[in-house]
Amino acid sequence: MFKASAFKLSLYEVCPQQYKFVYVDRIAEEYKIARPYLTMGAHVHNALKDLYEKVSPEKRNFSVLERLFRARWKENRRGFRDLEEERKWGLSALAMLKLFCQRMDLLMTPVMLENYYEYQIDPALSVLGRIDRVDQGREGLHVIDYKTGKFKADDVNELQLQLYSLIVEKRTHQKVAKASFLFLPSFQWYSITPQPEDYDFVIEDVKLRARDILGDEKFLPRINRYCKNCDFLQICPAKEEALRSIKITHVEPNYVTRPIV
Ligand code: SF4
Repeated sequence: MFKASAFKLSLYEVCPQQYKFVYVDRIAEEYKIARPYLTMGAHVHNALKDLYEKVSPEKRNFSVLERLFRARWKENRRGFRDLEEERKWGLSALAMLKLFCQRMDLLMTPVMLENYYEYQIDPALSVLGRIDRVDQGREGLHVIDYKTGKFKADDVNELQLQLYSLIVEKRTHQKVAKASFLFLPSFQWYSITPQPEDYDFVIEDVKLRARDILGDEKFLPRINRYCKNCDFLQICPAKEEALRSIKITHVEPNYVTRPIV
């Protein structure tokens, strides 16, 4: 059974060799490098999950969320060069959580919250996603994925929203009216309104991508703008070329905030 997630499919598209390290050789844990944006992103997601799971609607506010966030932060402080850098990332996280509390309706309790969900397309293929939250809207369900990085139009992965909508609609048998990324630093929304006919297209697309991956025997490295942040740079067969490309390309951290699915 091939389990397709947006992360998995996008990783193969960006670099088949990196995909192989993660999903075929399964050596991601061994080579994992702690990164400040990953640590911060995980804590923001967990604190928001705690807020909705552990706190009753009328008691939800920024000071409660800050307390939950600081408790999560103590659990893992890896990836920072020094205290100064850790403080900087902590403060930027608190700023986005504060903005969240100012702009979001904290009384609303999501109908689904931070969990892995799967939908089986056929006996050989399923789609899988870790969905941050699903709210009940007037027109139907609203699937929401939090982003802790700044909004960049080039980095928006609509496939992720399409897959999440597909999974939620098939599992709940309720209409998904909207699927959105919520960019927390600016409280900026990027939304799609999925139509029933889109799902056939998405399923076909996933099948084709899965077929390409399963049929790949070489998993060639593909130099790309994320090589600088690749955990496997040291063992990459194209290391020299990757290093040359890094020297001439300034790369911002890619704010991948989800664990590997
Ligand atoms: S360094 Fe670049 S080319 Fe090599 S595996 Fe990583 S992403 Fe792919």
